[in-house]
Amino acid sequence: MTALPLSESPRPLGKSEISVHPLAWGMWRMSGDAAAARERIAAARDIGITLFDTADIYGIDSSHGFGSAEALLGEVLKADSGLRRGMVIATKGGIVPGIPYNSGATYLQEACNASLKRLGIERIDLYQIHRPDLLTHPAEVAEGLIKLKRAGKIDAVGVSNYTAAQTAALQAWLDLPVVSHQPEFSPLHLAPMTDGVLDQAMERDMAVLAWSPLAGGRLIDAPPDGTPRAVVDELDRLAHREGVSRACVALAWVMSHPSRPIPIIGSQSPDRIRQCKDVFKVRLDRADWYAVLVAARGAPMP
Ligand code: NAP
Repeated sequence: MTALPLSESPRPLGKSEISVHPLAWGMWRMSGDAAAARERIAAARDIGITLFDTADIYGIDSSHGFGSAEALLGEVLKADSGLRRGMVIATKGGIVPGIPYNSGATYLQEACNASLKRLGIERIDLYQIHRPDLLTHPAEVAEGLIKLKRAGKIDAVGVSNYTAAQTAALQAWLDLPVVSHQPEFSPLHLAPMTDGVLDQAMERDMAVLAWSPLAGGRLIDAPPDGTPRAVVDELDRLAHREGVSRACVALAWVMSHPSRPIPIIGSQSPDRIRQCKDVFKVRLDRADWYAVLVAARGAPMP
């Protein structure tokens, strides 16, 4: 059977002018000092990764608190003036500790200005609304984003954890394309395939940035029984056949959906980040892909 296509070539980030590698790296779990951060970024760059995903809220649980992951990235960028070139910096705003969401136009200006300052850059390549704020009309979210774009503070706009309907409502008020969705998507989180998010991405030519593509590590450190076990067994069968790690097969599975999701690798180990390059050796066919899905569903396809 023919292998599902998995290209290593860079491609446009949805309807933007930004070109990205088909893997991304994320900083949700980033901690430690700038030297450690630099090493991980170097590992990601080594395997061709261009898109780096962070958020103003990342680091909230560390001693440095809100904004600290962006500040750490800012420190790394400041120490190496050449690094920014070729990097697509994606960040997010809209989660406010204690509230918990605000996507009001005024708040977005403040949040984005603060992110720019921490990152030490003049423009954010992809600015994403982190989670839908149920109390802000999409017209106002759009107004906030348009202001940021007109001020040259952001290049492209994306959404994260938005439903398809919320995205359509925002797009209706926005004279810029929403270029990306960022849903959770992995063999242990299948919802975007059936809740309309991946269909909308294909309909509107939006990029899909898949968060927690290894289910936050649960696919790797899986418990010895239960549904994850069946998925793990199927992934291991394919990993053995393909001569790669279980992680690479799981990433390849995510990437093989026709919306061509870009998995955001969450590992903080430079070696494990580098090993993700083997994803491009994986050849899954239709039967392989559906076998993982059936194991994940715990039931045959209808
Ligand atoms: P993930 O790739 O599903 O999980 C990463 C975890 O798996 C790490 O703890 C890692 O540990 C572990 N792991 C174990 N073996 C591994 C292997 N062989 N290869 C890779 N990782 C392995 O991703 P995630 O960290 O949960 O999320 C990834 C990114 O998605 C975040 O950094 C963030 O950018 C984004 N995100 C977005 C949202 C949102 O709401 N938009 C929410 C969550 C995450 P080691 O570090 O020890 O390798």
